[in-house]
Amino acid sequence: MVNPKFPKLLLLILGLCWCLLVGCAVNPISGEEELMLFAPEEDIQLGRQYSPEVEKELGGRIADEALQSYIDGVGQRIARVCHRPDWDYRFVAVEHESVNAVAVPGGYIFITRGMLEKLSTEAQLAGILGHEIAHVVARDSAAALSREYGMGILLAAIQAAGASGDAVKAAAFTKQILSLRYSRKDEQEADLAGMDYMVRAAYVPSGMVETMQILRDLQQVRPIEFFSTHPLPQNRMMYLSQRIASRYSNVGGLNVGREDYRQGVLARLQQETPVEF
Ligand SMILES: [Zn+2]
Repeated sequence: MVNPKFPKLLLLILGLCWCLLVGCAVNPISGEEELMLFAPEEDIQLGRQYSPEVEKELGGRIADEALQSYIDGVGQRIARVCHRPDWDYRFVAVEHESVNAVAVPGGYIFITRGMLEKLSTEAQLAGILGHEIAHVVARDSAAALSREYGMGILLAAIQAAGASGDAVKAAAFTKQILSLRYSRKDEQEADLAGMDYMVRAAYVPSGMVETMQILRDLQQVRPIEFFSTHPLPQNRMMYLSQRIASRYSNVGGLNVGREDYRQGVLARLQQETPVEF
């Protein structure tokens, strides 16, 4: 008689062999093993090499150091309390008019002028940055690249980024990073972990729900770029509100930061003339 445990055991052994052969990593947010062709050092290396390309593609850095330091300050405050606080996170505001935010492997996070103009509090900004930090922590972009493109793309990316780099390959890889879609499960994990990080950094968690509301209202007028790579907000607002009710309803003393955001971002953006595309 066949041992009924055998198929499970075989699957486990095959799974372990697969992980040893091609590489797996534990996602610190979900605690689950995932296919991962990149080592964390390669995430960081790819981020360092491709973030200038991504920055250029998104219209370049907004030339206002006070604004950049404000955005970076909010991001660093959240990054210090995430699951990978030792990574080197960079938060950069870029000129693009699209409503978007992007995390590049290794801790490079970009937020567009179009997005910044639509927000009204520091807690809402913390909601976006917390979500993107959680994608970096979970290494979702490296996992998605591993799943979708396999070893070939990884080698091509590293070769393209080399000293004698191939500009065409580098540009193609940058576009792939910018158009990566994660699973609904990855997005939900990033929402919930991002919200936990916000609260640990003393931001009121309803900021994330408000951000979803703002983006949902905009989406009803025209398609929002953020939703070309993210699920629509309806269902997300529901589970985030449930998380607030179940976990944070009694937490006091958290920051909204309406005036700080007005001075640190909105007033500064109005002083400048946006770059035309
Ligand atoms: Zn996301």
